Amino acid sequence: MNESKYVYLDYAATTPMDPQVIEVYKNSINEYYGNSSSLHSMGQKAAKSLVESRELVASLINAERNDIFFTSSGTESDNLAIMGVALKNRRHGNHIITSSIEHHAIEKPCEYLEKNGFEITFLPVDKYGLIDTKQLEDTITDKTILISIMFANNEIGTIEPIKEIGTIAKEHNIIFHTDAVQALGKIPIDVNKLNIDLLSASAHKIYGPKGVGMLYIRNKGIREGRGKYIQPLMYGGGHEGDLRPSTVNVPGISAFVKALDLAKKEMPEEIKRLTALRDKIIHNLTENIDHCFLNGHPTKRLPNNVNVSIQYIEGESMVLDLDFEGIGVSTGSACSSKSLEPSHVLLAIGLKPQDAHGSLRITLGRFTTEEEINYFLEKLPPIVQRLRKLSPLKEEKS
Ligand SMILES: *Cc1c(COP(=O)(O)O)cnc(C)c1O
Repeated sequence: MNESKYVYLDYAATTPMDPQVIEVYKNSINEYYGNSSSLHSMGQKAAKSLVESRELVASLINAERNDIFFTSSGTESDNLAIMGVALKNRRHGNHIITSSIEHHAIEKPCEYLEKNGFEITFLPVDKYGLIDTKQLEDTITDKTILISIMFANNEIGTIEPIKEIGTIAKEHNIIFHTDAVQALGKIPIDVNKLNIDLLSASAHKIYGPKGVGMLYIRNKGIREGRGKYIQPLMYGGGHEGDLRPSTVNVPGISAFVKALDLAKKEMPEEIKRLTALRDKIIHNLTENIDHCFLNGHPTKRLPNNVNVSIQYIEGESMVLDLDFEGIGVSTGSACSSKSLEPSHVLLAIGLKPQDAHGSLRITLGRFTTEEEINYFLEKLPPIVQRLRKLSPLKEEKS
């Protein structure tokens, strides 16, 4: 292992930009700097680039070009979906169904709505992080206006039964949103086959730039024709179909689209390669480290996600010791956050707080090599051994 090269294993947090994406980005900044709303040729050039971007994204998820709306992030897309649908459809009902393992970008707007007259059902999940579709269906009332369930979880990698959820939502004539920030570009997604009405995505999780996102909004013929069923959250110019004002980030969007296109092309190979590396890590850690278990589902999980609990020690200490060895991973332990609360996802799958504190998330990506994984697998066990010697928690072992 080259000493100077950092082993980055935190691709679920963010990714480096792909060199091919950077090329497109650089070119677009130079060539397409015009405001896509301007009448002159520089504006029209930018507008044309934007149309092409929209077309390409649409083709990648089997959507209509005009149903693609660009935003500033996954967080903005999630907020626009939740708050926008809630505000616009209040007269139809005030009930929203989501899960207890959503990203904060869904959880927090739902909590806000709950304080403001909406009823939110946070569906529990099983020990793997899966929602129960029967329970989902039982929770639907005539006041339910929206179901929002994430495609794949960012911490434990569990992939939810999206097709079944889409079918249920369609049968009951309820709008279905999915946060696909961790899934788009990693596993195949077809919004029509899956009956998805709204889908959030973000560029920086798939080797694109930070600060660029997308919301797919099924519009033509939506259910009983609620027409424009989303209220904008910001007011200003008329960009993005009056739904999302602010001068459009044409270069960022070109880069996002290039990133998506690359991800789609490499997907079959990457799924195979990363799944093998993922399972090698899971196998190695659970075999070779005592009191270590997998979090999330063994097979219904993202190809690039490993999440384990290593009992009797703190995730933070492992993260810092690994960083000292030039390895970057993350933990659902949260001594870094003010609340000292461990991850709500790990608690939702039934982990004891102390086991959540001992969690380690290792997420792989395009630039991860087998050599890097071997290096990580060699460095972790002695760290665990050393920390356990120091840990007061080990007393609890019986
Ligand atoms: C990262 C992430 C987000 C937020 O996306 P940003 O572009 O960073 O705002 C939302 N949902 C999930 C599941 C994520 O992993």
